[in-house]
Amino acid sequence: QQISKEVMAQTKFFKDFPKKGINFMDLFSITTKPALFRKVIDALKTLIEVEVGRPGEAFNYLVGLEARGFVLGPILAMEYGLPFTAIRKKGKLPGDTIVEEYKLEYGSDACEIQKEVLDQSSRVLILDDLLATGGTLCAAMNLIQKCDGAQVVASVVVFDIPALKGRDKLTKACHALISLD
Ligand code: IMP
Repeated sequence: QQISKEVMAQTKFFKDFPKKGINFMDLFSITTKPALFRKVIDALKTLIEVEVGRPGEAFNYLVGLEARGFVLGPILAMEYGLPFTAIRKKGKLPGDTIVEEYKLEYGSDACEIQKEVLDQSSRVLILDDLLATGGTLCAAMNLIQKCDGAQVVASVVVFDIPALKGRDKLTKACHALISLD
C-alpha cells in the first residue's frame, strides 16, 4: 500500500517510550506534515467507507479516545457532518458521567463519557491512533454499550500491532490503516 510506505518513511518511532520495551509510534510526526496528514485522513475515509459503510447510515456518531483519538475524530466528524464526543480518563469530564473500569498489566484504570450524549439512536464508530493490547478499545466498547442503548458499530485506528493480539479482546471489528509487524 502506497500510504503505508509513505507514512512509515516519514513517521518517527521513539524507542523505550514511555517505558522500556515500548516502541512508541508518534502520531504528531504525521500531523506536523500537512500533505501527509491530508493523505492519512483521506485514506482513513476510504477505509471507513469500504470496511464500515456509509457515514450517516452505517454509523451516525464518532467517539474519540484520549488523547490522540481527539486529533482524528473531530476532523472526520466535520467532514461527515456527524457529532463527535470524547472518552476520557476518569475525572476529566464535567457533569454526570458513565464510568468503565479496566485492568492494566499492573493495577487498574477507568475511562468515562458524559451521560447524556449517546442514546439508543447512536451507532458509534470509535477512533484512536493505535491498537496495541486492546485494553483501551475494549474498555471504550464496554463503556459505550452501557450508554442508554447506544451501539458500537466498529473502531478504526491508524496503526495496529497484530502480534499483541489486541483484537482477541474486542467484541466489534477494529480496522487499521497500517499494521506494524
Ligand atoms: P492498548 O490499550 O494496549 O491497545 O494501547 C492502546 C492505547 O495506548 C491507545 O490509546 C494509544 O494511544 C496508546 N499507545 C500504545 N502504544 C502506543 C504507541 O506506540 N504510540 C502511540 N500510542 C500508543
